[in-house]
Amino acid sequence: MAKIIDGKALAQKVRDGIKKQNQAMQYEAGIIPGLAVILVGDDPASKVYVRNKEKACKEVGFYSRIIRKEASCTQEELITLVEELNHDDAIHGILVQSPIPSHLDEMAVVRAIDPAKDVDGFHVENAGKLMVGIPGFVPCTPKGVIRMLREEGIAMAGKHAVVVGRSNIVGKPMAMLLLAENATVTVCHSRTENLAEITRTADILVAAVGKAGLITADMVKPGAAVIDVGMNRNAEGKLCGDVDFAGVSEVAGAITPVPGGVGPMTIAMLLENTLEAAQNG
Ligand code: NDP
Repeated sequence: MAKIIDGKALAQKVRDGIKKQNQAMQYEAGIIPGLAVILVGDDPASKVYVRNKEKACKEVGFYSRIIRKEASCTQEELITLVEELNHDDAIHGILVQSPIPSHLDEMAVVRAIDPAKDVDGFHVENAGKLMVGIPGFVPCTPKGVIRMLREEGIAMAGKHAVVVGRSNIVGKPMAMLLLAENATVTVCHSRTENLAEITRTADILVAAVGKAGLITADMVKPGAAVIDVGMNRNAEGKLCGDVDFAGVSEVAGAITPVPGGVGPMTIAMLLENTLEAAQNG
């Protein structure tokens, strides 16, 4: 039976540390880290994510500002808002809650964010820094996964890490970070042939697809560490990942649950990036 990696407890530990660092910084330098979250439209899931981010900021003593825009808002309006926030001294981190309505160019909006305030790490400048291995903001979800693997003492150097999913926000940066940890990395996607054959060779398997039950026990090497990034709703409307938890936990050495795995770590890393942005001034 696999060890269940408690992302919630790890995230709490990270948040406690951030709270202390924040108190010290406020006392010594009088700086309160500020996070601005732009929410366009009224997607119910996005509203929940934004509320969770606001709650997390409050808990560690950060200033947070939620800016709600109508779904009909224009590209120019959004870019103007981002530029205002770029020049707002109370704001150290800016993020645009995804997804935004399809008439808007998300990439262009993110590119308008000052890379020094891009706490999601989605700006091409930060993506490029990650690619070449120089310090910059790293996307929160893959950053949280690496932190979990480290905290759990799961060796990455020399191991075969398989990442299923190649999005700019999870799969690709995940692969880069594992490579930086000296893992041998394979990235799979919807066009990959013989997915199961590849995943069965993984010492570390990261599923970031968005398909409930995609990873089954027969696709997992005995003893592997299985990290489930997926967030889906099953037929009963319950939150679940990409991994068949019941089956895979019989085979894997370690596994993250959904909920309570990667999700809480993502928010903790967002706080960490915001603190870093404030420290950088
Ligand atoms: P995307 O939809 O952007 O990317 C999904 C990836 O999965 C794509 O690269 C796609 O391949 C690949 N894929 C689709 N079907 C298959 C398949 N049958 N076999 C192999 N690969 C496949 O999603 P995101 O990266 O944004 O998110 C992935 C999941 O992670 C979602 O469930 C999302 O909700 C969750 N998530 C969770 C977070 C957390 O904090 N826990 C944070 C962010 C995301 P292709 O490129 O060929 O289309």
